[in-house]
Amino acid sequence: MPGVGDLTMENSCQALCRSLITHSGLQEEVDISKSVLYTSLMGLLLVADREREIHLSLGSGQVGLWNVGNTCFLNSIVQCLSHTCSLRDYCLTKAFLHEMGSTEEPQLMKAFTQVLCDLWDSNGTNTAVNPGAFCSAFKESVPYFSGYSQQDAQEFLRFLLDRLHSEINRCPPHRNTLRTSLVPARATLRIGEEAAVMWKKYLERENSKIVDLFAGQLRSSLHCSVCSHYSTTFDVFYDLSLPIPKVLRSVAGGSVSLKDCLELFSQEEQLEKENSPLCERCGKRTESTKKLTIQKFPKVIVLHLNRFTTSRYSISKSTVSVSFPLTQLDLGPYGPVDTGPVLYNLYAVCNHSGTVNMGHYTAYCLDETGWQCYNDSRVTPTGESQLQSNQAYVLFYKLDVSSEPGK
Ligand SMILES: [Zn+2]
Repeated sequence: MPGVGDLTMENSCQALCRSLITHSGLQEEVDISKSVLYTSLMGLLLVADREREIHLSLGSGQVGLWNVGNTCFLNSIVQCLSHTCSLRDYCLTKAFLHEMGSTEEPQLMKAFTQVLCDLWDSNGTNTAVNPGAFCSAFKESVPYFSGYSQQDAQEFLRFLLDRLHSEINRCPPHRNTLRTSLVPARATLRIGEEAAVMWKKYLERENSKIVDLFAGQLRSSLHCSVCSHYSTTFDVFYDLSLPIPKVLRSVAGGSVSLKDCLELFSQEEQLEKENSPLCERCGKRTESTKKLTIQKFPKVIVLHLNRFTTSRYSISKSTVSVSFPLTQLDLGPYGPVDTGPVLYNLYAVCNHSGTVNMGHYTAYCLDETGWQCYNDSRVTPTGESQLQSNQAYVLFYKLDVSSEPGK
């Protein structure tokens, strides 16, 4: 075929097709192979167009969600996830359909994706959309959330990410029998190597966009006070639940910083004999100390300010104001020794106002135009100064790619 050799030099599909059209116009006889080629190229073009269109035709995203019966906990978290751009784009392009390891219908993922489609529809005229179908799909997937009572947003987020992950896991469905097998001989591996081995084993079974974005690795070091033996375990986390230090109201207006919470989270903790795990060397429970560090930093870190304390008879809520940086939160100090700065920028906040039993959830999310407040069906612009309050409950931070720690 004349000209095809030259045409392949062209990079873009459009140019290729344009040239083909020109050629077809000039030639009276179009042979079959060329028309087949033409059709295929048109097909490719259409696919490319459709994918590009999804990226180009995003609406503002400044669309609310109806409250369909005490669902503000769900609405606020969905808005935070809807502003997690890589997750949003992954859903909108329906990339999960090509990656899933299971052949089962991803019911919840589809319902979630539909909500995102409605929220980001460039032709949409609605100021708020109905999350009812998604809400039903979620309750079907997690019966624990059935009923109409107020639920905890953090708990909802955990269940949602877990269920979405299981539906779109790239690894084929498996039985949970291999989890503890083939743990490497500890003596032969350094901490960093052991962590990497554990992480690799995790990814062999659990691998999805949810894991790509939210999963990190936590290291727990236990030190036995009797025999001085150190043991290390690694756990995968999708969020960190941070304790809020108790403050005297008279001191500094009852306010603490996120750094205080992180310090408390990662400080060495004394464990009584009865609360201690077995010491590997002593073979029994001993008084020990435990320390948590972040071994592997996720792309998106979800920090839960644990405002609710459950005692035997009741749940109480801390209304301490926690200040937090909007940019350049450095989590490096909570990583392995000698980790440089690991910087994160805030892009969404889930707030809880009111009391344990009579509460309301809202979200602050950052888009190209600034911060918006999502209060169920209402969306209003918000100043940065509004973000810091004693209602901040779950913080969503995105890793600053320029500070990503080396592997
Ligand atoms: Zn011991």
